[in-house]
Amino acid sequence: MNLNQLTIKEAHRGLVQKEFSSVELTEAVLGQIKRRNQEINAYLVLTEEMALTQAKKVDKMIANNEEIGLLAGIPAAIKDNIMIDGVQCTAASKILENYIAPYDATVIKKLKKQGAVFVGKTNLDEFAMGSSTENSAFGPTKNPRDLSRVPGGSSGGSAAAVADDQCIYALGSDTGGSIRQPASFCGVAGLKPTYGSVSRYGLIAFASSLDQIGPLAKTTEDCQIIFEAINGRDEMDATSNEQRIINNKKDDKLKIGIPKEYFVAGIDSAVEEAVRGAISQYEKMGFEIVEISLPHTEYALPVYYIIMPAEASSNLARFDGIKYGLAEKGKDLLEGYLKTRQKGFGDEVKRRIMLGTYVLSAGYYDAYYLKAQKVRTLIKNDFLKAFEKVDVLITPTAPTPAFKIGQKIADPVSMYLSDIYTISANLAGLPAISIPIKSNSPLPIGMQIIGKQFGENDIFKIANDYADKTI
Ligand code: GLN
Repeated sequence: MNLNQLTIKEAHRGLVQKEFSSVELTEAVLGQIKRRNQEINAYLVLTEEMALTQAKKVDKMIANNEEIGLLAGIPAAIKDNIMIDGVQCTAASKILENYIAPYDATVIKKLKKQGAVFVGKTNLDEFAMGSSTENSAFGPTKNPRDLSRVPGGSSGGSAAAVADDQCIYALGSDTGGSIRQPASFCGVAGLKPTYGSVSRYGLIAFASSLDQIGPLAKTTEDCQIIFEAINGRDEMDATSNEQRIINNKKDDKLKIGIPKEYFVAGIDSAVEEAVRGAISQYEKMGFEIVEISLPHTEYALPVYYIIMPAEASSNLARFDGIKYGLAEKGKDLLEGYLKTRQKGFGDEVKRRIMLGTYVLSAGYYDAYYLKAQKVRTLIKNDFLKAFEKVDVLITPTAPTPAFKIGQKIADPVSMYLSDIYTISANLAGLPAISIPIKSNSPLPIGMQIIGKQFGENDIFKIANDYADKTI
C-alpha cells in the first residue's frame, strides 16, 4: 500500500510510530496528484510549498516527542470556495480568477492549529452551483472510478481527490447535496453537518441559510475526526452554535426510519436494490426499522429552487468589478458592473441570479419567496414528527449512480433532480452523511443517513455499524 492510500487514522498511527514522516506522506500525495491531475482535474491549484513547510513543522514536533493531534501532518484538499490566507480562491469562476484570499476561513484556522497540511484547492461547479462539476470555469473534473462520468458536484474535485488518493481527506461545502452527492458518485464518505455547527466564516457565500462546510474522507471514522476538529461556535458567524452534540441512547439500539416518499418513481433500480440491501443488513443486526412518512417531500426541490436562488442573487451582488477580482471598464459605473458580470459569470450562475431576482421582486415576493419559506417550515416539521418515532433516517443519497459527462448539462431540470434526496436535510438544517454501500453495480452507490439536529454521533454510530459488519 502506498502512503497516499492511507486513512487519517492509519496515517496518524504511522506518523507517531515514526514509520514514515509527514514530508514523506505529503510527497506521496503530491506525487499522485502530479501523475493524475492532468486527467482528473480535481485540483485547480497546488500549494506544495505551504504543504511541505507545514509537514516539516509536524515532523519536528514528532522528532521532539511532542504530542500531536489526529490531523497533524496529514495532507488535506480544500474546496476552492474556502479561503486560505494568501492562496487563490476562485469558486471556479472567471470573476474571481485572480483573487487571492486575504484571510483564513475559521475551519482553516482550526485545522492549522491542529497542524494540518494543505496540498491544494479543489475544483467545483462555479460558486458551488451544480451537481456535476461541469459548471467550473476551469474545465470539468472526471470521476476516477470511470473517467467517462462526472464525479458529482459541486464538491466534485474534493470527492475525486479523496477517491483517487490525491489527498487523505478533503473539505467541501453542501448547500443542497454538494458534499453527499459527489461522495456517493465517487465511493467515499461525506458529511453535511447540522446547520450552524461549523462556522461559515471564510466560505464564499452561496445560499447562506443552507450552506455548511463538511468533510469528505475514506471512512466514517475519518469524517468524525474532521468534524470534531472543525465544529463549534465562532464569533465571526452569528449562525454558529456551541458544540452541542446530543449523545447516543444508553441502550445503543437506535431506531431507523425509512421515509416511504424516497422510494418512488425515478429511482434507479441498482440504487434501490443496494439501499434496500443495506436496510435488511441493519435488520439482521437487530435494529428496529420503521416505515415513516415525510409528506411534504415533493415540495423540497421547488422550495429549494426559490430560496436558494433568492439568497444567491443577493450574495452574488457583491461581485461588481469594484471590490473583487475581474473588473471590466465601462463608460459609467453601471456599464462597468454589467460588463464585469456578463463576462465573469457562467450561464448557470446567471440563470440563478435571474431566478432569484425574479422571486424577490416586488409583486412576486409574497407569491414565491414568502410561500416557499412557509413550505420550508412544513418540511422541517415533517422531520420533527418523524424524529419523535425514530433516531435516524436512511435513504438513497442520489437517485442514480454517476452519470456521463455531458449527459445532463443541457437540461438544467434533469440536473436539479440529482439532488432530490439531499436537499431536504439542508432545508431542515439537519446533519446527513453519505457512505458507500455494497451493490451489484460497477459504479459506487451511496446511502444517506439523516440525523436529528446535532445528532451527528447517531449518524456516525449507524454508519460505523454498517462498515464494521460488511466491509
Ligand atoms: N446541486 C445543488 C445546486 O446546484 C446543490 C449545490 C450545493 O450543495 N452547493 O444548487
